[in-house]
Amino acid sequence: MASGVRNGGAGVGPRMSAKLDRQSSSATPKAAAAGKPRLSSAAGAGAYRRTSSGPLPAAGGRASSESGVSSRVRVAVRLRPRNAEELAADADFGDCVELQPELKRLKLRKNNWESETYEFDEVLTEFSSQKRVYEVVAKPVVESVLEGYNGTVMAYGQTGTGKTFTLGRLGDEDTAARGIMVRAMEDILADITFETDYVSVSYLQLYMEMIQDLLDPVNDNIAIVEDPRTGDVSLPGATVVEVRDQKSFVDLLRVGEAHRIAANTKLNTESSRSHAILMVNVRRAVKGRNEMEVSISGENGHSSSMMGSFRPPIVRKSKLVVVDLAGSERIDKSGSEGHTLEEAKSINLSLSALGKCINALAENSPHVPVRDSKLTRLLKDSFGGTARTSLVVTIGPSPRHRGETTSTIMFGQRAMKVENMVKLKEEFDYKSLCRRLDIELDKLIAENERQRKYFDDEVERIRAEAQCRIAEADRECKIALENEKMKYHQEYLDSIKILEEKWKVHQQSPKKQIKEAESTSNDLLQNEKMLRQSAEDEANDLKNQVSHWKKMEATATAEAVKLRKMLDTESSQKGKLEEEIGVLRSQLLQMSLEADETRRSLDRGDGPGKIFPGLDSLVSQTRGSQPREQSNGSKQPIAKLFEQVGLQKILSLLESEEPDVRVHAVKVVANLAAEEANQEKIVEAGGLTSLLMLLRSSEDETIRRVAAGAIANLAMNETNQDLIMAQGGVTLLSMTASDAEDPQTLRMVAGAIANLCGNDKLQTRLRGEGGIKALLGMVRCRHPDVLAQVARGIANFAKCESRAATQGNKVGKSLLIDDGALPWIVKNANNEAAPIRRHIELALCHLAQHEVNARDIIIGGALWELVRISRDCSREDIRQLAYRTLTSSPTLEAEINRLGIKP
Ligand code: ADP
Ligand code: MG
Repeated sequence: MASGVRNGGAGVGPRMSAKLDRQSSSATPKAAAAGKPRLSSAAGAGAYRRTSSGPLPAAGGRASSESGVSSRVRVAVRLRPRNAEELAADADFGDCVELQPELKRLKLRKNNWESETYEFDEVLTEFSSQKRVYEVVAKPVVESVLEGYNGTVMAYGQTGTGKTFTLGRLGDEDTAARGIMVRAMEDILADITFETDYVSVSYLQLYMEMIQDLLDPVNDNIAIVEDPRTGDVSLPGATVVEVRDQKSFVDLLRVGEAHRIAANTKLNTESSRSHAILMVNVRRAVKGRNEMEVSISGENGHSSSMMGSFRPPIVRKSKLVVVDLAGSERIDKSGSEGHTLEEAKSINLSLSALGKCINALAENSPHVPVRDSKLTRLLKDSFGGTARTSLVVTIGPSPRHRGETTSTIMFGQRAMKVENMVKLKEEFDYKSLCRRLDIELDKLIAENERQRKYFDDEVERIRAEAQCRIAEADRECKIALENEKMKYHQEYLDSIKILEEKWKVHQQSPKKQIKEAESTSNDLLQNEKMLRQSAEDEANDLKNQVSHWKKMEATATAEAVKLRKMLDTESSQKGKLEEEIGVLRSQLLQMSLEADETRRSLDRGDGPGKIFPGLDSLVSQTRGSQPREQSNGSKQPIAKLFEQVGLQKILSLLESEEPDVRVHAVKVVANLAAEEANQEKIVEAGGLTSLLMLLRSSEDETIRRVAAGAIANLAMNETNQDLIMAQGGVTLLSMTASDAEDPQTLRMVAGAIANLCGNDKLQTRLRGEGGIKALLGMVRCRHPDVLAQVARGIANFAKCESRAATQGNKVGKSLLIDDGALPWIVKNANNEAAPIRRHIELALCHLAQHEVNARDIIIGGALWELVRISRDCSREDIRQLAYRTLTSSPTLEAEINRLGIKP
């Protein structure tokens, strides 16, 4: 039936039903599977498509970052009012289309008798306001972008039908005329929080397969970069401008538009032949949600309370792309507008590739030719990707352009069949976590430094005070002694003199006086005796005083010793703290690498690339990795650089002139060596040799301690154990064992030797080069950590020996017993520290399993210990091992029976 009435009028003819049925049958299986019926069989309207009647639906359920939510591309059609020319020229003709907005239908008249009906998600008449157009076409997409999904708004249609009017009007002269770009930014700026969120834009033009920066037109061949892992596309070469207010955004659009006109004049084309692309990047912090907890582990695997736990904040990075496509009309293949045929092909390439992709997607074809043009590469996410996409097709009313109008409508119809899987663009913000960790680390370093200084000062003050007191007491004592001595000496001389005089007088006087004189002399002698007695008493008194002072001096010395011990403990704590900081640094470094990785993969659209700050700053990086500067240029694969060149550089720093740098470098190497994954690389790069050299040549206690620790870590692996032996490592470790005073250094050295002790093949050589003697020598330092390592080494060694014996290898007395380990073993078999005791218990069991050692075990008193272990050991497996060992050795069993004891 003819339907000659433009509004209302005739119903739907059979042709149209047939057409809609055809659409029905071509619904993609994907859409059907997604449970989204695209056509309904509702009564009345029959086979008409019934889609949502309101605006395009806003972002639905929150998509997890893994799987998306199915969402069809939404398509609206907009009819431009007749323009002045059409009013005049087409005055006698009706429009070629008739709209039924309430039914969301469009009738396209083929001629006076026939028309075809198409259904769209939204039908916008010539009277639709710009505000309404924004609300139905773009607003749901903008809201979606603000929630963290990518979004696309695109206009397609013949030149002059209102694409730019719809998208790009600035509304300077009339606010009501503002287009989608301006209104979208208004909504974005109204919703975001500037303290935590970030909005930036890039504005580009695509013409003849060249991408030109409309904000910096000199930049006219921008490359598209694709992340090989995620497939995300970005334009790292494009200018990115942060937007904080509406006015500056409108100014940017104005600048871009001016550049577009200037560029097109120069290229001798019209803007209708180029595609304009506005990209708005939105980065928002997600508040109150943390899904991952990164806890920093201390040296022993315990979570360090000092470090606490750090949770990386979550950010959503979404992108709104607004595309004002080139006019959809075909250009003359013979080269209109003064172009050659090749140029003409190139001009059309992107648009026709877009059509082909949409056809392929609509037909669910296995191959979608995305790579055929730059436009389709850029819009990869918009069609068949993860973005929420809304398309507005613009048409004019004139019957003269019926052909173009039909093809525009068909394009829109096909686009409606494209199904996207929208996904939330959410990720962890490692960069800001890194910054926070950095601050925390700096605080800890500063606090540690202050405490150290305070402690050193305090120790110095107490020592000075004690010395002062001792010196003063000494001096006073000497003076008092001297005075007393002189006084008594004088008194003694005086009395002698008196006696001599008296004696003379007595000699000269008559005999009668003799008796008198004798009695006087007796008196004097008596007197003298008493004087002597009191002098002696006083001397004793003084001696007591001296001994009192000496006691005081001893107390002061004891106090000084105590302080020194405190100093030792403090410095060992400091060492541990430093190691913890080291671990933290290496984790920080690792996180920076991960953050870089993440940034590289996900952050491409953010703007210009970053440059690795260079190898010379490696040390300063590990000291506190500052956020790296951004600069133009391509990104370096930092992880690779670190592996290939960074390690060499760090190792070369081990020989630096600067003692500080050396200390730091050896710490970095030690931290790397703590990771099993790095050990092989370190050894390959000559790190083991460098560390051994450092152990031999360095005077610095810290360097020796850290180097020994790194060697101990490397010595966990059998290949490295061979290398350590081959490079004379045992002799070096033994030398350090006898030289070093610091318990932590000794612990590292003992740990390294203990690891070597566990290697079956190295037993004889290790012992020959003094390894066991060195181990035993270190027990002079009574620190329990050192003793635990020594005990572990002995247990390892004894285990290898007993293993060799059970495998029937050469049978000789234990080298451990030969080297005199037994007395120490017996003495510490019941050590109160559990790690020491366990190792020694095991060592004893291993030694006793070998019959040739039995006599030494009996003589050395170890039998009693074994009996005790078999009875009392709290660990059942060791208790049983000891029991089995005792009962399976004839010599030991005989002795037990002889003594009448029971294991
Ligand atoms: P295109 O970008 O598709 O080539 P334009 O947006 O430049 O088309 O529009 C061409 C002309 O039509 C312009 O003068 C524009 O102002 C006018 N125009 C387009 N759409 C409308 C509309 N809906 N209402 C009024 N005028 C319009
Ligand atoms: Mg235009």
